[in-house]
Amino acid sequence: MPAERLRTVLQRIQNAADAAGRPVPALLAVSKTQPAAAVAALAAAGQAAFGENYVQEGAAKRAALAAAHPGLHWHLIGHLQSNKAAQAAEAFDWVQSVDRPGLVAALARHRAPQRGPLNVLIQVNVEGEAGKAGCRPEDLPALADRVADTPGLALRGLMSIPVPHPDPERRRPAFRRMRELFDGLAARHPGADTLSMGMSDDFAIAIAEGATLVRIGTALFGPRPR
Ligand SMILES: *Cc1c(COP(=O)(O)O)cnc(C)c1O
Repeated sequence: MPAERLRTVLQRIQNAADAAGRPVPALLAVSKTQPAAAVAALAAAGQAAFGENYVQEGAAKRAALAAAHPGLHWHLIGHLQSNKAAQAAEAFDWVQSVDRPGLVAALARHRAPQRGPLNVLIQVNVEGEAGKAGCRPEDLPALADRVADTPGLALRGLMSIPVPHPDPERRRPAFRRMRELFDGLAARHPGADTLSMGMSDDFAIAIAEGATLVRIGTALFGPRPR
């Protein structure tokens, strides 16, 4: 029952925001590995923003659903390889995983002007986890300035994926640090209005720490097919 699952998740988001005295964040439905039909069912229930981890998979679903659901917004939330930047700039409305200068020019170069600017979040490796995607906090100001100064891109904020401690409460310090980084960013870049953090098992904590967008897959779609 996609409509019922959507209603339940929206209610849980609202409850978490109310309990924390925070504004209600936006919901990104993470549809990776889910078939286009599952996305269509959720779109029919009113959900418009969908997140995908792989460029090709997202592009295929966007194309499959464009006629029946022209108003959907697609976010890339997975690691972006440089050789996929061109396709990402075409297929997505948002890229949440920009984490290095080399992606900036490539994304801008391939963004068709008539599409409007590509919305960009900078992914931050806030805990300095070895071998993980995301820029270092100390590299954030320069990368943010570069995105903001690049025509064809709109700097919209930050994204992070904390270390998946089995106890979600242990992710709270990372969420809190992200909020501090986000506040610093927004003071310098007034267009930055989005802090993307929180997934199915920790979104209430992320909301309490100031998320403005939560990325939820399993709680909306059920377990992933692969
Ligand atoms: C898969 C994924 C999610 C959603 O995770 P769930 O636990 O299924 O809600 C959110 N963000 C990113 C970056 C992901 O890869």
